[in-house]
Amino acid sequence: MLEVKNLTKIYQSKNGVQTRALDGVTLRFPERGMVFLLGKSGSGKSTLLNVCGGLDDPTSGEIVVKGRSSKKFSQSDFDSYRNTYVGFIFQEYNILNEFTVEENIALALELQGKPKDKKAIADLLEQVDLKGFAKRKPNTLSGGQKQRIAIARALVKSPEIIMADEPTGALDSATGKQVFDTLKKLSEDKLVIVVSHDREFAELYADRIIELKDGKILTDVTKTEHKQQPLSENIDVIGDVLCVKRGANLDDAEFAKIREFLGKAEGDVIIAGGERDVTNFKKVSRITENGAKEVFDSTDESRVPVREYTKEESRFIRSKLPLKHAARIGVSGLKTKPVRLFFTILLCLIAFTLFGLLSTLSFYDSAATFKQTLRDSDAEYITVAEQYKIHVKSYQNGELEYEYDMFSMVQFSEEALTQLRAKYGEGVFGAAQVRMQLPVRSTSSSYWIAEIDSIAYLPEGHALRSRINGQYPTAKDEICISSYMAQVICESTLVDETGKTVELGSTQDVLGKTLSINGTKYKVVGILDSGAIDPKYEVLKNDDTTKNGSLVYTYQQELSDGLHLLAFLSTDGVQELSRQFGYAYGGKEAMNYDRRGQLFFEGTTDEKEGDMMQHGNAYYAPVSLLGENGYIPLADNADGIVVSVSRVCDALRNELWAEQMEIENLPYEERTETHEARLAALYDLSNQIEIVTRDQKETLDGEGNFIYTPYTAEEREAAFKAMLTKAEQVFGDITLEANFAPYDERNQMRLDAPEKYVVRGVFIPEQIYSSEAEVVYLPDAKVDAFWALQKQSLEWYEETSTAYKGETNGLYNKLYLPFDRSDAMVNTLWEMYENETYDENDARFYIMDSRVQEIAMVDSVVETLSKVFLYVGLGFALFAILLFSNFISVSISQKRKEIGILRAVGARSLDVFKIFFAESFTIAAICTALSVIACTVLCRVLNTSIGASIGASLFVFGFGSIAILIGIAILTAIIATFLPVWNAAKKKPVESIRAL
Ligand code: ADP
Ligand code: MG
Repeated sequence: MLEVKNLTKIYQSKNGVQTRALDGVTLRFPERGMVFLLGKSGSGKSTLLNVCGGLDDPTSGEIVVKGRSSKKFSQSDFDSYRNTYVGFIFQEYNILNEFTVEENIALALELQGKPKDKKAIADLLEQVDLKGFAKRKPNTLSGGQKQRIAIARALVKSPEIIMADEPTGALDSATGKQVFDTLKKLSEDKLVIVVSHDREFAELYADRIIELKDGKILTDVTKTEHKQQPLSENIDVIGDVLCVKRGANLDDAEFAKIREFLGKAEGDVIIAGGERDVTNFKKVSRITENGAKEVFDSTDESRVPVREYTKEESRFIRSKLPLKHAARIGVSGLKTKPVRLFFTILLCLIAFTLFGLLSTLSFYDSAATFKQTLRDSDAEYITVAEQYKIHVKSYQNGELEYEYDMFSMVQFSEEALTQLRAKYGEGVFGAAQVRMQLPVRSTSSSYWIAEIDSIAYLPEGHALRSRINGQYPTAKDEICISSYMAQVICESTLVDETGKTVELGSTQDVLGKTLSINGTKYKVVGILDSGAIDPKYEVLKNDDTTKNGSLVYTYQQELSDGLHLLAFLSTDGVQELSRQFGYAYGGKEAMNYDRRGQLFFEGTTDEKEGDMMQHGNAYYAPVSLLGENGYIPLADNADGIVVSVSRVCDALRNELWAEQMEIENLPYEERTETHEARLAALYDLSNQIEIVTRDQKETLDGEGNFIYTPYTAEEREAAFKAMLTKAEQVFGDITLEANFAPYDERNQMRLDAPEKYVVRGVFIPEQIYSSEAEVVYLPDAKVDAFWALQKQSLEWYEETSTAYKGETNGLYNKLYLPFDRSDAMVNTLWEMYENETYDENDARFYIMDSRVQEIAMVDSVVETLSKVFLYVGLGFALFAILLFSNFISVSISQKRKEIGILRAVGARSLDVFKIFFAESFTIAAICTALSVIACTVLCRVLNTSIGASIGASLFVFGFGSIAILIGIAILTAIIATFLPVWNAAKKKPVESIRAL
């Protein structure tokens, strides 16, 4: 049944020394009986046993099991061979201390895929004379008892071979004897191979003794019975013993035979008759009751029967560790390392929780939220604007240092609106942000906002016009305010232009009143119903703003999303204000104040040249920037320049004072009436210049006092024009000319010879003395040429360019698109929202509506959080996996014993895998459960904090997320367990056992 052929085992130690532990061993074991492997320590006994048992593989040679050669065995065949045929018994018993006797045996039973049969276990215990020990724990047993439990465990699978390596090595000889007795009993129908160095026991119990020396078989003897040879009726000869039967009366013939026997004897002969002596002698000489003598003769292996085995008989059975037991062994390891377990779980928990939160975010559907939010809103109009890109290149010493994009708002003209109406509906209208104060004394609460945020024009027939109480403004100084503004005016105190209170009974009374706004008097001709305001904001009427900060914020958003802060004007009214607020002049930002030149501005008031001299630094810009209507024309000269009225005033002042001084310095008697008249005219002009440049108009009150009030834009322009006319009257024809050249500020030199220009027009700057007033507008081509020159002298400069070719001269900077909640409109808006690319014009629409801004914020929060969760989660996951792996590695080293025992009993690598996967899945399951709890709690917290501020429940932790978490947990467990376990499981069983 078991043969080994030509076995060689060479151990290669680390320092290169080779040990031949087995050297060409060939043996054929019998089907049953007790075979002892005898020999000195280091002779190769254990090695031979391990190789025979498939715990280790030979360097060369083969073992043949029931006709199957190990040459064709895989590792798992070895495992199965052991599992099917071999029961191992070790010197150190190797029973599991945390299991009871019964459980230890049951484990082996279940490895065979057999149920835990209590009766079978009781029978086994009886076989090893340990009846009634089932419930005992191993640590309450003696060594001999433990060893017999180990034997019982080995017997569980009814192996045909039992292999025992020095089973009594740790026992005293009395208990050792019990163990040998048990094994002897088993050898009646099994092959029992015992390693021992105790020759006495060997000769007592063995059926065959194989003695090894230096890995070679030294002797191989088999016990044979020498039968008695009767010499006569009374005398028997057994080997070299002569036995005379009790009470025999010997005759001469018989004495002659005794004499013959004595003659053959080589030494002394003892004849003894005492009963005790005879019994002792028989025992020592192994003479059985029936008189036969047991003798060890050289083994004749040809007499060991060779059998043919059928396929069925030589079948291997694979072990199968039930998951329950794998889990039990696996989980038993958890409590031994609480600190490690804690940190492993903590890190995994953090990682899993972050992934859990990430998963909830990945379920967030931006498009659906966007569309639903808009559909659910009560928005009548959605405000949008268009921005275009301005590319800025920054140069240092002529080298490009860096570049970036700036954005500017597109301005829409009425014509542009016509086109947009074709696309977004007839109801589209434009608005210009002006931010003007309503003429009220005070607003006591944040509910009443006394501001016209934007002005708009509603074309004739516009749907909103039907909501006006009163009529739509037709004249420049008529206004239609929102019903909210009418309320604001009523709630606060309306004042007229002199600051006097205007009494009002109801909002209706506001109609027909005059509002002094931004220096212009507007007559309220209509009040447009701007709709209701959510009552939840009413608390703000008597509020403490500091308490309701966020409510105030959303309130203001709601107001500006709606029509509440809009005032409507006639086309002329819009034109004027829009221009005043800068929308009519496009691209001011394109003006580059770093471009400097030097201006010698000279006017001529008479034949003499060089009067009205004024010079100094100037910025220069192209005339095209101002546009057609951006200045007051003075001379019809396309090559001329445009200067600020401030410069003209300064020059006129110079001229005026010069002439004034001349007259005033005349001796009194030389002054004529003409002189006096001239002086009066000069004073008059001087006064007019003062008033104009102070930006105030002068009027007389009833008592003859001067009152100074600010100009309206219109009055201002008229005053400047009047002043210029007056100057022409005083000085006769004025020719305004200037010499201009670009100037190198650093090197204090002109970059080119000055050229002479006619002043073609005068522009009125917003502030009379400001850097804007210092700009000289030159013909475009000149500017380009100057700039090319100027650049070379600059250490640092920026150049801007834009592909935007649209309007820079519009009236409006935002659009109101009518919102009908239709799918088409919602989709159009979604496209607009989602589109982040700029068109060929480098422009792009965006939605200003606060609800959409909120969604945009949510989207960016989601995006940022996703990234944070992902990267931080991955970081933690990495640590978690490392710690996890480490945990399992430590666990493996602690469980070496179990692994060794299981492997010896016949467990496969797969069973070892099962144990540690059970352990890591337990950890993973704990982490998953905890992180599900953590995610649920965190989602609630996050939804009430972040969610409340962005108005959405972002973190919805549902089944999808739980499924993802479980998936991640399983993945983590597999990754973290596979490597260390694979290393442990691929080890040869003998290595696991040796580590015991
Ligand atoms: P025995 O069981 O008869 O005492 P072994 O079979 O254990 O002897 O050992 C036989 C020889 O092989 C000895 O010289 C021993 O030192 C050597 N040996 C056993 N196991 C190893 C091993 N894993 N590595 C190196 N040498 C070994
Ligand atoms: Mg040994």
